[in-house]
Amino acid sequence: MRHRLQSPATHASFQHQSILLVYPSTPSSTLALTGLHHITAIAGDPRRNVAFYTGALGLRLIKRTVNFDDPSTYHLYYGDSVGTPGSVLTFFPWAGIRRGRPGTGQAYATAFSVPAGSLNFWRTRLLAHGVTPSSLTTRFGDEVISFTDPDGLILELVASTEPDARAAHPHPEISAAHGIRGFHSVTLAVSEATPTAALLTHAMGYRATATADGRTRFRVAAGGPGTYVDVVVDSSLPRGTSGAGTVHHIAFRTPDDTTQARALAALQALNLGVSPVMDRNYFHSIYYREPAGILFEIATDNPGFTIDEPLATLGTALKLPAQYESQRAAIEAHLPPLM
Ligand code: ZN
Repeated sequence: MRHRLQSPATHASFQHQSILLVYPSTPSSTLALTGLHHITAIAGDPRRNVAFYTGALGLRLIKRTVNFDDPSTYHLYYGDSVGTPGSVLTFFPWAGIRRGRPGTGQAYATAFSVPAGSLNFWRTRLLAHGVTPSSLTTRFGDEVISFTDPDGLILELVASTEPDARAAHPHPEISAAHGIRGFHSVTLAVSEATPTAALLTHAMGYRATATADGRTRFRVAAGGPGTYVDVVVDSSLPRGTSGAGTVHHIAFRTPDDTTQARALAALQALNLGVSPVMDRNYFHSIYYREPAGILFEIATDNPGFTIDEPLATLGTALKLPAQYESQRAAIEAHLPPLM
């Protein structure tokens, strides 16, 4: 059995570095980030993964492709109807992989934005799908429930009282009054908040907006659901370990290649070990690790998910990057069916 946990980047220079980051006293906004782009996690059985995210949660499977660094395994993308950045949750599924342990040094929880007043609907729906959500809690004025996916990935639904004009993907059992509108926030669990907070605020353009119960919320650009990063220090959390049910990396949005190039230069100046630009077909990416060891990516909004198939049929056929097209028959024969 091969269960290699590979970095999405092709070279191995992203080992966590113990470095002292020194920031200029004036916060910089050179990274020009506009919010969350996508979050990528590790799953077990791919068919169970599809059933949960398209069935229970009502997301659209917007792309079925392979891990560009390991084409023997899928890379599955879910999102709103068009795969708008800020709605895209992706998985590397490896059937039979051992579970990881959510904890510090990880993106600990992924939160979706749902309409205010929808959590009773979601509690009932999740229970009907065999998922037991937490009791309702309140976070910075919004009601929240949490639960786990079939691999143990920690998910949250935030009934945001803030305006969120993003449209949910239509689903026959989930009305627009209830549907998932994209990410609300991601929670980073760290053992010490200051280094991560300093990177967010001094280099990445984030601003702290509120602190309560060991949790500090950061916003970027115009703020609002889809931009938030929460940093949590909770001494009861174990050190996280990688495996099924844990987040592999989180990606932030930048508008285009020009703004990404500026971000790359700014990160290089900080000696964060940032990768060169990688072509991920649907966006272009650079990677670096923040001080707690969490893998960050900055991804462009373009070209988007309709670059290799029409909007109407997104996610229905296996799409391969050009370098693997000649191996299509072998790759298809190896991959398990999804439905
Ligand atoms: Zn990514």
